[in-house]
Amino acid sequence: MKIDYDLCMGDRNCNKVCPEVFKYDEDQMISIVLVDEVPQHLEELVKKAAEECAPGAIIGEE
Ligand code: SF4
Repeated sequence: MKIDYDLCMGDRNCNKVCPEVFKYDEDQMISIVLVDEVPQHLEELVKKAAEECAPGAIIGEE
C-alpha cells in the first residue's frame, strides 16, 4: 500500500482515520505512510482511509 503523491491533496483524512499508518508531513503538506506492511489489525482502518481519500491517492489495498 502506498500514497500516490501526485494525487494526494493533503487534507489529512487518512491521518485522522488511521494515525498508526498515515502521518501528516507538515513540510511537504502531504501524508506519508509509516509502515512497509499494514499490520493485520489495521487493515480495516486503512481500507476505510482509502475510501475516504477523495482523490483516491491511497492505492494497493485490495
Ligand atoms: S486522505 Fe488522501 S488526499 Fe488526504 S492526506 Fe491522505 S492520501 Fe492525501
